[in-house]
This record gives sequence, C-alpha cells and structure tokens, in this order.
Amino acid sequence: MAGPAAAALCGKEEKVLGAQKAPGSCPYCGGGVAATDVEAKWVLCCLPLCRRTKRRFTCTACARRLVTYPAILHD
Ligand SMILES: [Zn+2]
Repeated sequence: MAGPAAAALCGKEEKVLGAQKAPGSCPYCGGGVAATDVEAKWVLCCLPLCRRTKRRFTCTACARRLVTYPAILHD
C-alpha cells in the first residue's frame, strides 16, 4: 500500500459551528450583527492539543469584524 506521505498536520484549524443573529447593531454602519461560533483547534503532529470555542461578531451589512463589540451576550 503506497500511502501518501503523512501530511505535516501542525497548526491551527478553525471550524465554523454556526451563526446566528446577535442583538444590537454595528457601531460603524448600524447594520445587523451576526454572531459566529468558531471552534479553534491547535494540532501538533496529528495530536489535538487544545480546543476552544469562541464567538466572533461580524456585521452583516459592511462585513466588518466587530472585535470590540461589547460582550452583552451571557445567555
Ligand atoms: Zn456595519
């Protein structure tokens, strides 16, 4: 079996788990805000080291990343 060379699977993988509408509006253009849940996984030589889910806010109108969006979602 001539298997393929093992890929150097080191680095960070990101998988989008889902997106939903977030309350509030974009501070730049007043458009709607979407909350995207992203699972980030750090992989070192095929061994998953660390997995973290984070929520990312983006504007649906101007597509800006709202990194300073206030954390008003606690539920
Ligand atoms: Zn916007």
